[in-house]
Formats: sequence, structure tokens, C-alpha cells
Amino acid sequence: MTATDSAPAATAVVTPPLPAQAAPVTASGRRPDILPEPAGTLQRTLVAIFVAVPMLAIVAAVPVAWGWGLGWHDVIIGAVFYVISGLGISMGFHRYFTHGSFKSVRGLKIALAIAGSMALEGPVITWVADHRRHHKFSDKEGDPHSPWRFGNDWKALTKGLVFAHTGWLFDTEVTSVEKFCPDWLADRDVFRLDKAFPYLVAVSLLSPALIGGLWSMSWQGAVTAFFWASLVRVAFLHHVTWSINSICHTFGKEEFEVRDKSRNVSWLAILSFGESWHNLHHSDPTCARHGVLKGQIDIAARVIWACERLGLATDIRWPDEERLSSKQTGRLTGTARKLGSMTRRRAAQQES
Ligand SMILES: [Zn+2]
Ligand SMILES: [Zn+2]
Repeated sequence: MTATDSAPAATAVVTPPLPAQAAPVTASGRRPDILPEPAGTLQRTLVAIFVAVPMLAIVAAVPVAWGWGLGWHDVIIGAVFYVISGLGISMGFHRYFTHGSFKSVRGLKIALAIAGSMALEGPVITWVADHRRHHKFSDKEGDPHSPWRFGNDWKALTKGLVFAHTGWLFDTEVTSVEKFCPDWLADRDVFRLDKAFPYLVAVSLLSPALIGGLWSMSWQGAVTAFFWASLVRVAFLHHVTWSINSICHTFGKEEFEVRDKSRNVSWLAILSFGESWHNLHHSDPTCARHGVLKGQIDIAARVIWACERLGLATDIRWPDEERLSSKQTGRLTGTARKLGSMTRRRAAQQES
């Protein structure tokens, strides 16, 4: 981790607010797509507070509740449901349903739609339509959740971060599913699962309680599993997903050329199953692996790889050396990092 992509310490540092930065105009008279990066200490501290304080409150509750309101059963059930619903979003809603990074057998398609719905981030077709609109207008007018919506001075960016994180959910604008998602509207399985969303929400919230109750054979076990493995798990995953919209469009590294403000953020990689390699994702949206550089952990890509081995997923759009190396920002300065495994190399065929 480097200073540019690590979580800033939550210590308040008093710095004068940055003045509004005027976008420079290039020789051709065109304003550039990429504005100067305002990564000031104050902004970073504010994000740290927004992200860290509620999380620290949950973490602080753990030792207090341990032994009477929280036990190993709750931790295990919560972790399993976090992985199911998190992969449902990352591998399913995002890489498969939105971007078509691979083709799937019917059973896996249905499983991914159910798993993603269990994250309580909306029905699959709505999610896909919003996200396709995000890519179409990324960080420009029309983007449903850009942190740059209100401008790029520190006040506008603070407001924008809150908007990109959760505020956009309350926006009155509704994305047209007919325009952005005609493919899945025409798919009977996906259309039905989209309509079944309220039932899948009930499954996601009630099954941890049922499992917790049966495991401990007590009502107390059902209640604590409901609190930790349903409510806390969903809240935690929500924040991780929303951080891709807010943090990964504001802070981090620009390792690949993009026309927006998407960035790679390493400290969110494991929790987000690889989604926080968001700069690469905007540079090459249909690529099945987002953490394409050597050492960038991408759990969803690894699961897609396993599904390919099992014959459940085909036509996977693995990273392509030829395509990606021309987009690496470090290629001109000789600082470009090597591409990782699963990359289709120039000379040889796919590396396993
Ligand atoms: Zn994005
Ligand atoms: Zn995307």
C-alpha cells in the first residue's frame, strides 16, 4: 500500500480548505477529461471518518457482546452469507449480468442472480441498468453516483462523496430498464428472479436466523444470528459496495488510462472480492479479472476461473496483454507493472 491508496489515519489534521481548482485548458482549447487530483488531507480525513467511525462502532460492540450476544455460530454464518452475497454482486450482478465478462450455464446464472439479490442492493435488472448508466456517463452529467457531481473543490467533493456513497439511492431519477437492460428483460429466468426480489430479501434475512436457531437449538441463537449474520452483514456489504462508487472514484492509483476518475484501491480488494481494482475496470469494462496486475488479489476472478475449470463458465474475457499494456499509465516512464496470471499473453495462449 502506498500513501495514495491506503486508508488515511482518522486523526483530524487542521488544514486550510483547498481553493476551487479551475480545469486547465489544453492547447486545442478543449478542457481535459481528467481534472487535477485534489487529494488533500482534509478530504481524506473526512472520508476516513465517514467510513471508519460506524465500522469501529460495530467492531467495538464485538467484545461487549461476545459470549452473550455474539458467538462463533454468528461469525461463521455471517461470513458464509457475506461471501455468498458479495460474490453474487461482484461475479454475478457486476461482471456477468452487467458486463458479460463470461457466459454461464443456466444453473450458475440462476445461482448468481439469487446470490446477488441476497445483498439487498435491489433487484438484478435495476442494478444492472443503474450500473450500465454509470459506465455510459462515468463522472459526467447523467452518472447516477459520481462523487464529482457537485464540482471539485473540497466542499463540493465532500458533498459528492456522501452522495456517491448513499445519497444517490434517494435520488428521484429512475434509470430506464427498457433502455439499459433489454437483454435481461427478455430472459425469463432473470425476469422472474427480478420480480421475486422481495422473497429473496426474506430468504437473505431469515435463513441466518433459522440456521442460528437450529444450530444452537435456542431462540437466542436465532436472534443473535439475525442481528450479526443478517443485519450487520448486509450493512457491511452495502458500505463496501458503495465505497466502490465513492472512494474508488476519488482516491487511489490510476494505473490504466481512463476518461473518468476511477482509481485502484488496494485496501478494499479482499473485502470487495476484487471490485476495488476499479481503475482497470473502467479502462477495460468487460474484462473478467479486475486486479490484472501481478499481486492484485481478485477473489471473484479466481472463482470465475474455477467455474471455467468445472465447465460452468465459458467464453471468459480474461485480461489481454496486447490490449492492456497499451493502456498502462506507467508504460512511457518504464514503471508499468507486470500483468498477473490468467492473462492472455502476446505469443503464447492463455496461461493457467
Ligand atoms: Zn465506477
Ligand atoms: Zn462496471
